[in-house]
Amino acid sequence: MTNAQQTSDIPAMSSGNSGNAASGDTAVIGSPTTESLSWLDRPIPQIALRNIQQSQNNLQSEPTIECPECHAVVSRTAMAFNVYVCPQCDEHLRMKARDRLYWLLDQVDRELGQEFVSTDPLNFVDSQPYPQRLSKAQSQTGETEALVVMQGRLGSLTAIACAFEFEFMGGSMGRVVGDRFVLACETALALRQPLICFAASGGARMQEGLLSLLQMARTSAAIERLKQAGVPYVVVLTNPVYGGVTASLAMLGDIHLAEPKAMVGFAGKRVIEQTVRETLQEPFQRAEFLLEHGVVDQIVHRHALKETLERLLAKLLGVV
Ligand SMILES: [Zn+2]
Repeated sequence: MTNAQQTSDIPAMSSGNSGNAASGDTAVIGSPTTESLSWLDRPIPQIALRNIQQSQNNLQSEPTIECPECHAVVSRTAMAFNVYVCPQCDEHLRMKARDRLYWLLDQVDRELGQEFVSTDPLNFVDSQPYPQRLSKAQSQTGETEALVVMQGRLGSLTAIACAFEFEFMGGSMGRVVGDRFVLACETALALRQPLICFAASGGARMQEGLLSLLQMARTSAAIERLKQAGVPYVVVLTNPVYGGVTASLAMLGDIHLAEPKAMVGFAGKRVIEQTVRETLQEPFQRAEFLLEHGVVDQIVHRHALKETLERLLAKLLGVV
């Protein structure tokens, strides 16, 4: 087909009565009225217009995600349907805290700790003021802080579940994350309901200095109260967990589950390599390495995680 023929096909498809666009799909193709117009000026019939709009909508409504491991490009819908596990290579992609909790809980009864909002107690400024960083993180993630806590049904149980939002300043633990986690513990304790924590964090939040480090002690003490009362606390280590969060609440569970290949440590691999002057081989700090060394109890595929948690909690509560 020549270029000239291709050009002439376009007006033939889009012919119509210029005086009545709504009746364009009944117009005679190549009628004298439309042929006298340039093809650019001719009205597009409704059917063709609908088809074009539909295909444009399909393209716009189908954003894609590239797998960081195998680089497969998968539609966001397909990825969400597969709980953000790559259908090509089984890589577990990071999940948003809120998506994670809505996926886990069969019914959400309420969200806890939304009344706690960060302030700037140290008037901290690095490359930009801390309040500016906070509002940027809030607008990017749609969350008010890096920890989301919900209470709801998980199978036949009622549980408290919290998840770190890694996209919110690297899931760092500041005063509000501490407040929300302690509230989750206190609620679990008061109602004798199990607590689940999906950890994903870079550690303590440097913008809050000592106040963020204090959260390690606060959260550890709150977990200890749960242990003394015999209320189950289960941690799910997701990629990645580092620093003060590893050194406190993420390592104090009754049971530690981990997602495949999750990176978990205190200092990063490069820092340790520079300190010990050795090259550390894969899978150092991966969930598989931690399982081998007794830090993790079980690595669970995300597709089996919900069922595993349900079963574990029922066993810990003695209801099976
Ligand atoms: Zn992949």
